[in-house]
Amino acid sequence: MLSKFNYLKPKSLDEALAYIKENPGTKLLAGGTDLMIVLRRNMEIVDHVLDIKDIPETKRFEYKAGEGLFIGASVTVNEISECDVVAEKYAAVKEAADSLASYQLRNRATLVGNLCNASPGADLASPLLVFDAVVHIAGPNGIREVALENFFTGVKRTVLVPGEIVIGVMLPDVKGDTSVFLKQARIKGHDLGIAGVSIRRTGEGKLCVGMTAVAPTPIRLRNLEESLQSKPFSAETAEWLNEEIKNHIKPISDIRSSAEYRLHVSGVLAQKGLMQLIAMGGK
Ligand SMILES: Cc1cc2nc3c(=O)[nH]c(=O)nc-3n(C[C@H](O)[C@H](O)[C@H](O)COP(=O)(O)OP(=O)(O)OC[C@H]3O[C@@H](n4cnc5c(N)ncnc54)[C@H](O)[C@@H]3O)c2cc1C
Repeated sequence: MLSKFNYLKPKSLDEALAYIKENPGTKLLAGGTDLMIVLRRNMEIVDHVLDIKDIPETKRFEYKAGEGLFIGASVTVNEISECDVVAEKYAAVKEAADSLASYQLRNRATLVGNLCNASPGADLASPLLVFDAVVHIAGPNGIREVALENFFTGVKRTVLVPGEIVIGVMLPDVKGDTSVFLKQARIKGHDLGIAGVSIRRTGEGKLCVGMTAVAPTPIRLRNLEESLQSKPFSAETAEWLNEEIKNHIKPISDIRSSAEYRLHVSGVLAQKGLMQLIAMGGK
């Protein structure tokens, strides 16, 4: 059963920031698909819940050529799935969005909620990492921007401090990129991944690799990317990647999988992902 709490749905960012300053410990609510489970199970008892969905800045979902795509904190995962710009320019983001839970859940769940919940297995994190996403955070001193790569600090932990609200995420504009997202889960549609991998090939031919569920936080595999730069864009490199990626991750065993299986499946997904990019073309 839910404990009692005060609920506010402010119409402006100023009102929201003032409320959370006056009421320390206020929990932010977006789609509620993670938060309501925590509250229903009384895993956390809170006195104040602030619903961000009427804050105008969080509703912004806008692409500007030369600047990129801004995804506000109230934008749902289904809105992202159905956006042509996302499909055309940031394919791995669309594929990850399509893989998250069920259609009904995606109608509520937000991309920013997925990031702020900071699960090591958050599906939308790896595609955003390979696209160099930047998190826009509002607080008492204005807006600060943090690269997503520096946003996660541990299991379910981020750089956010009390009094702050994420208003959205910015993806830089890209040209001629291809990208893929692949995930292995116990069951399709209702579970976090056992492992998830995103690979992006930039218009200039640079490969970027991000993973989830193989470390305490979602990760960008920078050292692996360095090694990939000197290799041909070929099936042999994809085969090499299958083994090499295991040297760059430290998965654990938990209810979803053993560490050994995670290592194995990460290699398989990475090889398959690179082969898919090769099939899309480019030298
Ligand atoms: C049945 C089921 C299946 C699921 N399947 C998947 C899956 O396949 N893959 C996957 O990755 N996830 C899955 N999830 C988890 C969840 O749906 C996602 O993480 C979702 O994207 C969370 O978004 P939300 O808007 O519902 O977040 P909420 O529950 O509203 O918030 C999540 C957390 O982020 C904080 N928060 C929200 N917005 C902000 C903000 N603007 N600023 C600062 N903090 C904020 C909240 O306080 C809370 O701590 C599943 C959940 C369920 C219940």
